[in-house]
Amino acid sequence: MTRRLLTPAEVRAWRAQNVGPVGFVPTMGFLHEGHLALMRQAKSECGTAVASLFVNPLQFGPDEDFGRYPRALEADLAKLESAGVDAVFTPGVADLYPAGFDTRVEVGAAASPLEGAVRPGHFAGVATVVLKLLNIVQPRRAYFGQKDAQQCVVIRQVVRDLDVPLEVVVAPTVREADGLAMSSRNSYLGPEERTAATVLFRALSAAERTFRGGARDGEGLCRRMAEVLSAEPLARPDYVSVAHPDTLAEISGEAGEGALASLAVRIGSTRLIDNLVLRSG
Ligand code: AMP
Repeated sequence: MTRRLLTPAEVRAWRAQNVGPVGFVPTMGFLHEGHLALMRQAKSECGTAVASLFVNPLQFGPDEDFGRYPRALEADLAKLESAGVDAVFTPGVADLYPAGFDTRVEVGAAASPLEGAVRPGHFAGVATVVLKLLNIVQPRRAYFGQKDAQQCVVIRQVVRDLDVPLEVVVAPTVREADGLAMSSRNSYLGPEERTAATVLFRALSAAERTFRGGARDGEGLCRRMAEVLSAEPLARPDYVSVAHPDTLAEISGEAGEGALASLAVRIGSTRLIDNLVLRSG
């Protein structure tokens, strides 16, 4: 049985009874295979897996989709059960942000470009809730998806800089058969939009092919992605980028092995992100 824990105090009490190593997977719920792959990895590597389901208001801008973010608690609990997750923390907003809450993690340079430039305050909100959750759950390892590459970079930096005693594990992006990265937000897409949404992976794959063909110029690789996106009438790009994988600094000259190609694209009113790590082989 997956044990449901509603408050930080309940998590602490459960942890007092379950003192062995824990693998922790923070999520916003509306679970899909991408989430569940992280849960299974946490379980097999750590023996005990804990998930959290919490749509974090701190990481949404005023014009973003906090209010309509998809939620499906009962279905999520059944999926966690079948993935063998031992406990799930499902706090309410007031449990994590009681009256008087007034602290934010101030994130550094890696949080500024890409998503950070389009979504001011987003990564401070992410870092704050993740640090709170890590302090509450106290895992040996915390699992994140490469799908949110910048989030992984920011979390690694926070963990390093603030001496958080755990290991960050980043797992590969899980995709639909046609390449679309799994995302809770895919549920917003109508049928035509769902077809159009494959353009993100097609653009990234074009950049990857170009890179493998020997072209290394960062701006040229970005132009290649923009070209593919422009052929899809329903797609409105926010950005395309080829950046250093650790600093996320944009590469205008030669992109090296492991450079991060990423993009954010609006399909109708749905904003999707995806990325690929560029490798020559
Ligand atoms: P979210 O619920 O969107 O906040 O995601 C929770 C965790 O699952 C984050 O670490 C995400 O990066 C990860 N994740 C989301 N989608 C995928 C995916 N398609 N493949 C792998 N990990 C994912």
